[in-house]
Amino acid sequence: MEECPRCGWPESEAYEVLSRHLTSEGVVTYTRCACGEVQVRVRRFEPGRAAPMHRTRPSGASG
Ligand SMILES: [Zn+2]
Repeated sequence: MEECPRCGWPESEAYEVLSRHLTSEGVVTYTRCACGEVQVRVRRFEPGRAAPMHRTRPSGASG
């Protein structure tokens, strides 16, 4: 567990979530600390827990 180097706010407790994006590596979250420090955190997907993907074909499509 890490803390903010400026005010010591625990990073586990996001003071304010600015935005959140889903990328191929994981979920990128932009958070702002109580002291105003903006931090970018990447929460990677858990390895080995990938859900099986079933690709469905559109019926009626010729090709
Ligand atoms: Zn802080």
